[in-house]
Amino acid sequence: MSVIPMWINGKAVQSKSGRFGDVFDPALGEATKQVGFANQEEINATVAAAKAAFPDWRDLSTARRQAIMFRFRELLEAKKPELAAIITAEHGKVLSDALGEITRGQEVVEFACGLPHLLKGEFSENASTNVDVYSIKQPIGVAGIISPFNFPAMVPMWFFPVAIAAGNTVILKPSEKDPSSAIWMAELWKEAGLPDGVFNVLNGDKEAVDGLLNHPDVASISFVGSTPIAQYIYETSAKNGKRVQALGGAKNHMLVLPDADLDLVADSAVNAGFGSAGERCMAISVIVAVEPVADSLIAKVKERMATIKVGDGRRNCDMGPLVTKQHRDKVASYIEIAEKDGATVVVDGRGVVADGAPGGFWLGPTLIDKVPTSSKVYKEEIFGPVLSVVRVQSYDEGLDLINSGAFGNGTAIFTNDGGAARKFQNQVQVGMIGINVPIPVPVAHFSFGGWKHSLFGDSRAHGEEGFRFFTQTKVITSRWLDPSHGGLNLGFPQN
Ligand code: NAD
Repeated sequence: MSVIPMWINGKAVQSKSGRFGDVFDPALGEATKQVGFANQEEINATVAAAKAAFPDWRDLSTARRQAIMFRFRELLEAKKPELAAIITAEHGKVLSDALGEITRGQEVVEFACGLPHLLKGEFSENASTNVDVYSIKQPIGVAGIISPFNFPAMVPMWFFPVAIAAGNTVILKPSEKDPSSAIWMAELWKEAGLPDGVFNVLNGDKEAVDGLLNHPDVASISFVGSTPIAQYIYETSAKNGKRVQALGGAKNHMLVLPDADLDLVADSAVNAGFGSAGERCMAISVIVAVEPVADSLIAKVKERMATIKVGDGRRNCDMGPLVTKQHRDKVASYIEIAEKDGATVVVDGRGVVADGAPGGFWLGPTLIDKVPTSSKVYKEEIFGPVLSVVRVQSYDEGLDLINSGAFGNGTAIFTNDGGAARKFQNQVQVGMIGINVPIPVPVAHFSFGGWKHSLFGDSRAHGEEGFRFFTQTKVITSRWLDPSHGGLNLGFPQN
């Protein structure tokens, strides 16, 4: 079985730790590769390579950095079907969806190509007599990026194009469940002409993560993953004096008002609930139906669910398997919990017949009505193809429900009433809001990030906020002497 290497200082390197993880093809249900987990010596070597590459990369002109960014973008555009195939083979999502995530990541590369403009400072001439004040933005050093399994290309691309464009060097620690995409992107950087050591990939589990969090030469940590780990990453990085942004889990609600177009709602709920088998942090997990719409909406959703083809993402299917058997079983266990808690299982995905190998990690689309809000099915992030319905009597009841949750990543409202939508965007305590749009992932020149337990730290991903995160500002006050200078004055200059 082949072993996926790390990427250190421009070369593929096999770990000598003797510790490995299995990498599965979820549609086959078989381990097809292994990945070596880094030990402390390998973590130190990776950080040393990134640190050594930093001064030259930082000092390269923005025009030259920009040229390399453009080349990376062109290569990505030309070769992305290769990357999509890698994603499908390790994550399981269907090929079209894998291509979709690459395209959304590529948007950030395209945004970061605007680095000369985004790195401009400010200048005030004559802030005091003959005194100019100006600011410059400089990179922060070695940036650590720790990413989840569900977007092996897009989530790293939320961060590394911006970090690299801003003059930093990067260590990416991808999920051990699907690490090959990271190596593919490292090879692409090399082909684009990025100097060795600017982009590195460290494979591993908690040991590799802790190695980055505790290393004095790592300046920042950008993390995306589940909430308990995000909280740990945030606290440990902050304690160690690092700049940190840690994006956590989600439980996204779709509020459906009685005046909404129920066909549009049903299409959107099915797309957003079951796309990528529900393994998206912006997936819709709960439909909050303001009565009297629930019965007719459920009928329309059910009708559409019957048309979803579950199977191997390389075939012509709509929805692939879950990422591992363990995760599949955990997601399926929520259906049992729903039954015990008195909810109505309208469509049960446990008996799905998939167009794929019998051992694949299959779970079909599942719809559960009348989910009690006290149930774990309502409260916890399930991260699979399980869509709950909660019935409420009014807009206010629906809003209170959404605002009382622990997470605040995404939400959507479906209505034809502009006033209601405007009220919702003002009142809801969530970071990303869709109005008749079910998965409101912001485009690259805005920033991505939720509220409450969906984001620890105050910086979101990409957009101008991304450039702020990956730079530090200096403000310079300067006076060039002219013949009229001189004289003592022990106070601050005042004019
Ligand atoms: P995860 O938290 O299990 O893993 C994320 C990363 O943390 C991986 O690289 C993993 O190796 C590492 N890790 C795991 N356990 C660790 C530990 N004990 N100590 C240190 N590091 C550890 O998440 P996942 O299962 O890979 O991804 C799914 C989760 O990510 C979901 O909760 C989802 O909502 C979340 N997510 C959030 C966003 C967002 O933008 N908010 C985006 C994508 C995914």
